[in-house]
Amino acid sequence: MTMAAARGLLDRREISSVELTTAFLDRISVFDVKVNAYITVDREGALAAAAAADRRIAEGRAASLTGIPLSLKDVLCTKGMRTTAGSKILEGFIPPYDATVTARLRESGAVILGKVAMDEFAMGSSSETCAYGVPCNPWRLDCICGGSSGGSAASVAAAECLASIGSDTGGSIRQPASHCGIVGMKPTYGRVSRYGLLAYASSLDQLGPMTRDVRDCAMLLNAISGHDRRDSTSVDRPVPDYIAALNRGVSGLRIGLPREYFSAGLDPEVEKTVGDAVSRLGAAGAEIVEVSLPHTDYAVAAYYIVAPAEASSNLSRYDGVRFGHRNLEAADVQEMFRRSRSEGFGPEVKRRIMIGAYALSAGYYDAYYKKALQVRTLVAGDFTEAFAGCDLLISPVAPTPAWKLGEKTGDPLAMYLSDILTIPANLVGIPAVSVPAGFSAAGLPIGVQIQAPHFREESLLACARVLEESSSIGGRRPEPAE
Ligand code: GLN
Repeated sequence: MTMAAARGLLDRREISSVELTTAFLDRISVFDVKVNAYITVDREGALAAAAAADRRIAEGRAASLTGIPLSLKDVLCTKGMRTTAGSKILEGFIPPYDATVTARLRESGAVILGKVAMDEFAMGSSSETCAYGVPCNPWRLDCICGGSSGGSAASVAAAECLASIGSDTGGSIRQPASHCGIVGMKPTYGRVSRYGLLAYASSLDQLGPMTRDVRDCAMLLNAISGHDRRDSTSVDRPVPDYIAALNRGVSGLRIGLPREYFSAGLDPEVEKTVGDAVSRLGAAGAEIVEVSLPHTDYAVAAYYIVAPAEASSNLSRYDGVRFGHRNLEAADVQEMFRRSRSEGFGPEVKRRIMIGAYALSAGYYDAYYKKALQVRTLVAGDFTEAFAGCDLLISPVAPTPAWKLGEKTGDPLAMYLSDILTIPANLVGIPAVSVPAGFSAAGLPIGVQIQAPHFREESLLACARVLEESSSIGGRRPEPAE
């Protein structure tokens, strides 16, 4: 069921939010034993919120999400509800406040079912670095669901919630959405407040919707977008009604195919799926043009300096004093810091802290960090030039469909390279969406990525909608029990 369909049923009183919420909680208890999407299920809180939602609906005061059960990536602060960022270091952390996005969802009436699995501190592409169990792909339980917002994608695909919120620093919304056959959007940097999002790389992080279809994506974006004085990088700019943009179509739009995104290493099934999506956009009246993003090859390298550099600074707060696990046996304060952090962080997070601290240190700053920022500017220039000749870009989301669990855990570089097509949008700050477009012969979903200039989420949604409506894959559902 979509959020929009549930909205209709709730408004017509054909179902109550308590019934709907109970149905999802029941599904979680049956399917999540296998899927492992949830870290925390808040049964009581969800049922109380659902009962409150039912009262509002009865009073005729329903807001857009009143009574709608959602899951949240465990990187968003939820007042009174454990928030771990997938890390052992935050095992007992109960935030005393709500993230702005959490608060906005609650104000819109949403029912929060619980918090879902993710790579530790959002560092990863498979959710396998999660300290609370690895979520798997509902379409094939022996495959990764993607990451780092893997629990979000898996919980939506397995119908263990109606929709979810993820975060995207280098592809973490779009890539798992693609691997799990759902819609995932990274909005423009600054569109959605990051207040209360446990920071990974602050100049790249952005929260966004992960939903069953494009209309739900617009509905959720409406609820979470907008200026927040608590996040100085959130942009004070009116929020359009994203639902109103859904049916604009693509007729007369120029859609660019970035040549560099179709280079060697692209899986033939992914290439074919994107090719088919491009033909459908052409048939819907778009003009397809080839464009070039010449610095694409350098984006991953630049990202793996900028993101760890920011992470090494952001994660210094987990020191056993201000936040996080504390070792109680240490003889002095230095040893306490060292042992607390050594025990609390997993290997991938430690690797990033070390890379970041190294890249920022005296003598290396100019060679690495400053150079990476220069590359970031060049990548941004590529997009400015490309968008001078087209309205949107279409490409794959990931070079391959989901891979087998464990396949890349021993090879960080292979894992990093799988984000080559999603990282540029974060370096540049532009919005991008992943839309389901096909399946591999092995039965794994394949998504298509659309990118737009800053604040053109409306065009993204309109184009995504055309792809969704012209697609022949509708109706296919995973069966995680088998
Ligand atoms: N996989 C990328 C990384 O590990 C992106 C993660 C993300 O977007 N949070 O950094």
